[in-house]
Amino acid sequence: MNVTMQPPTLSATDRCDGCGAQAFVRVVLAEDAELLFCGHHARQHEVKLREVAISIHDETRLLMH
Ligand SMILES: [Zn+2]
Repeated sequence: MNVTMQPPTLSATDRCDGCGAQAFVRVVLAEDAELLFCGHHARQHEVKLREVAISIHDETRLLMH
């Protein structure tokens, strides 16, 4: 499991699966299964996500300008 630091791939049309806010974290569970989360829900579920995800693409740092 890697936490990737790649160029942004999420856009304003990507929405959190928990609340519908703009998503900043993409959690890949399998090749064809992924979840999107806002910063709030990504942190809320972080421990569990790190257990089950094969890849987490975190763009929450883009919020910290
Ligand atoms: Zn959310």
